[in-house]
Amino acid sequence: MNEYFGYKQDRLFAENVALDDIARRFGTPCYVYSRAALTDGYRQFAEAFKSREHLICYAVKANSNLAILNLFARLGAGFDIVSGGELQRVLAAGGAASKVVFSGVGKSEAEMRQALEAGILCFNVESSSELDRLNTVAGSMGKVAPVSLRVNPDVDAKTHPYISTGLKQNKFGVAYTEALALYRKAAAMSHLRVTGMDCHIGSQLTETSPFIAAAEKVLALVDQLAASGIALEHLDLGGGLGIRYDDETPPSIAEYAKALLGALQGRSEKIIVEPGRVLVGNAGVLLTRIEYLKHGEEKNFAIVDAAMNDLMRPALYDAYHRILPVVRRQDIPSPQSSPAGGRGGERERQSLLYDVVGPICETGDFFGHARKMAVDKGDTLAVMSAGAYGMSMSSNYNTRPRAAEVMVDDAVVHLVRERETVSQLYAAEKIVA
Ligand SMILES: *Cc1c(COP(=O)(O)O)cnc(C)c1O
Repeated sequence: MNEYFGYKQDRLFAENVALDDIARRFGTPCYVYSRAALTDGYRQFAEAFKSREHLICYAVKANSNLAILNLFARLGAGFDIVSGGELQRVLAAGGAASKVVFSGVGKSEAEMRQALEAGILCFNVESSSELDRLNTVAGSMGKVAPVSLRVNPDVDAKTHPYISTGLKQNKFGVAYTEALALYRKAAAMSHLRVTGMDCHIGSQLTETSPFIAAAEKVLALVDQLAASGIALEHLDLGGGLGIRYDDETPPSIAEYAKALLGALQGRSEKIIVEPGRVLVGNAGVLLTRIEYLKHGEEKNFAIVDAAMNDLMRPALYDAYHRILPVVRRQDIPSPQSSPAGGRGGERERQSLLYDVVGPICETGDFFGHARKMAVDKGDTLAVMSAGAYGMSMSSNYNTRPRAAEVMVDDAVVHLVRERETVSQLYAAEKIVA
């Protein structure tokens, strides 16, 4: 919970709207975002970096809803994209191409063409062959592509291995030891213009030290480049700042910025950062309704109407999300004489340990294990900290239409994505005669 999502008496609110009202009005599963939380997060970044020229490029993949992109665009954000589709979203949401950086190891020719046509700020190039391809594509269009090399600083981000990207063995970026040679190659290519250096070492980092270690390694390279006559305009230090899901204690945005700015003292390059999760993670929750309670011999299950297709972080990373009842019930104390619980109906309301699971036929389809809750069927739960890598990673597995998304603005609720219909899911499919 934070200042945007909290209880008033026994009802959980997003800003000034009760979440049980949202569940009734829009149905479940439903993602709920707080406009104030999104705005405040962005403003904290802007404030923390204001002492020098900077651009905050929101990492679109964390949550790519147009309403969120539009909100950030209006606050002045740039965007970090990883596909042509994300570029199209940014432009549709009113974002400026001139503030877009394009990351990713597998950019296609079509995506390069699209980004050159739009006039993006920079391509974050991740390999020697990508340099070749970009030079050819830009040449065929009579254009010059602005490039950074994404350097892999070989720094341990100390995060989950699946979201660690800055180690030698990861697929991302160019090897530190090869970076200088590749910069020389890029600088000699007629349809490329070297403008910056980039690194991104992972996600959900909860300490500042790996960021600083990466920045120092990158800066050493920048100096070597300058000595060989290649001066850079910007330094892109990536994203990755973590959030609190459970009991993590990540640095605040201000602490993170202070540490980075400390490492950058005395330098004149423009700073780019690419925050994703930290801007949206704790600005969203997923509402889900309990369909059934199942009291087994070893375990109690709360079977809910959201599933791993809606929020796959628990299945994918064994990630922890807090789960809170949207309306708190009075806990009925368990009678000593009857360990299995009281008479019919009462047991449901006792505080018991539940595995909160979805309806999909996969053991990975869970939201939380052994959560102490006093709940009954029909109750609505809020899966907290679900604003990042929730909806954007969702799928239609089991032909489940994707959830509705709403944005709360003080006491007003805006539907920002309608719930999908089943017929939309197979509309592009054809039966063979
Ligand atoms: C995913 C990603 C980000 C954002 O990471 P967060 O942990 O969400 O801040 C930034 N830059 C690149 C290149 C990424 O792949």
